[in-house]
Amino acid sequence: MAFCSWHRGEAVDAVPVRIIEQTAGPGRSVYACLACCRYHRLTPIARGAAAPAGQIQRRT
Ligand SMILES: [Zn+2]
Repeated sequence: MAFCSWHRGEAVDAVPVRIIEQTAGPGRSVYACLACCRYHRLTPIARGAAAPAGQIQRRT
């Protein structure tokens, strides 16, 4: 359970994602649920455990 920064609520399937649009400083990581990942085309940072991530990154 983590807080999704996109729909501003807790989500059981939230994964850490990389923020592309940043104003300053090193990239910070925030959490987003898989639904928000797909909708906003976010890139999950989690490796291995986050199997659904491959579904998002593939664009065929
Ligand atoms: Zn969300």
